[in-house]
Amino acid sequence: MDILVVNAGSSSLKFQLYNMDKNEVIAKGICERVGVLGGDNAYLEFKSNKIEKEIEINKAMPTHKEAIELMLAMLKDEKVGVIKELTEIDAIGHRIVHGEEFFKESVLIDDEVIKKMEEFEQLAPLHMPPNILGVKSCMELIPGKPNVAVFDTAFHQTMPDYAFTYALPYEDYKDLKVRKYGFHGTSHKYVSEETIELLNNKPNSKIITCHLGNGSSITAIKDGKVIDTSMGLTPLEGLMMGTRCGSVDPAAVLYVMEKRNLNTKEMDNYMNKKSGIIGIYEKNSDFREVRNDYLAGDERATLTFNMITYKIKQYIGSYAASLGGLDAIVFTGGIGENSAIAREKICENLEFLGVNIDSKINIETEENRTKKPVLISTVDSKVKVFKINTNEELAIAKDTYNIVKFGKLA
Ligand code: AMP
Repeated sequence: MDILVVNAGSSSLKFQLYNMDKNEVIAKGICERVGVLGGDNAYLEFKSNKIEKEIEINKAMPTHKEAIELMLAMLKDEKVGVIKELTEIDAIGHRIVHGEEFFKESVLIDDEVIKKMEEFEQLAPLHMPPNILGVKSCMELIPGKPNVAVFDTAFHQTMPDYAFTYALPYEDYKDLKVRKYGFHGTSHKYVSEETIELLNNKPNSKIITCHLGNGSSITAIKDGKVIDTSMGLTPLEGLMMGTRCGSVDPAAVLYVMEKRNLNTKEMDNYMNKKSGIIGIYEKNSDFREVRNDYLAGDERATLTFNMITYKIKQYIGSYAASLGGLDAIVFTGGIGENSAIAREKICENLEFLGVNIDSKINIETEENRTKKPVLISTVDSKVKVFKINTNEELAIAKDTYNIVKFGKLA
């Protein structure tokens, strides 16, 4: 079965075509700058198992529909493509950012599901419209094939009410659905399932998954179910990220708005695009640069590095308390998978929790980078610490496969 995974982001379209029988990605690509300033400078990067090197194509993409048309043209292109007809695509899995409280797991998409998703547009105004347009375009351009929605929020729907309710007037939860939802659910689910297997399916396992990348979130998982997570109503809450501020005193926001004379849109931009690493380190939002400058003794990079790792450590402590113990910590995402020094600093002084990192294993080698699970804790560490490479596209493909083939998730 060939499954196309589509991730229509705010200004990009990522895709992968999986051959599920061979367990292989046969083509993948990304369209960038979709719809940015009319989409005139948009381009596509494409790679398939028919070509040695990635190719780049410049083409105007005013909306995600044009991006999907280009993706399909590439997939069946005589020279670089991997299929002859679009009918060879058996199903399409879509990454959908927000499923509100309604969608608790992945679903087969029909008109009712689309209508429901449209009701949630306001909860993620940058992401839901392209997500939905991606679904509609695939339904139109690859007619008669099943489409499955895989929600970023769904895995977190098991959180208890005392964890997800904000201490705001209750009517705003009832009327406006203002509450903590959590994101990166596909990644947290994927790496936690791997971890449960690595723990030999220990009953009542207590796991903290740290997805640390450009966007970062931490999740506490008890017996395979989320009991808390760091992101909130939107992916802004929680940890300091590449360009996002994470949690701050809400009154600080009002104060800056007043002093700097910013409206809500400008403040939104300030918190989402100008804060986090870029806000403190100022040179850029790339953690690699922060790390290099930190090692060179740069003052601002040191502050940034210390802020990031301190907050993550705090979440681990707090989630260990929420879980009532701890069996494993998992690091994933660009930073979590690659930065040994970040993992070391985060786990420093957590010996009282039973966390001991093995500094001989926790190193940055090519083998460690590519190997999926790496146990980086010492043999006698009470808490096992893993680095596990996430694969959100594969998780979406698997959900799509199970729903299409068996009518339900595994
Ligand atoms: P992601 O959003 O998961 O792709 O992660 C992107 C983040 O991972 C960026 O901040 C990168 O700087 C960071 N990153 C990627 N490779 C490394 C590395 N080898 N060491 C440290 N950080 C890295």
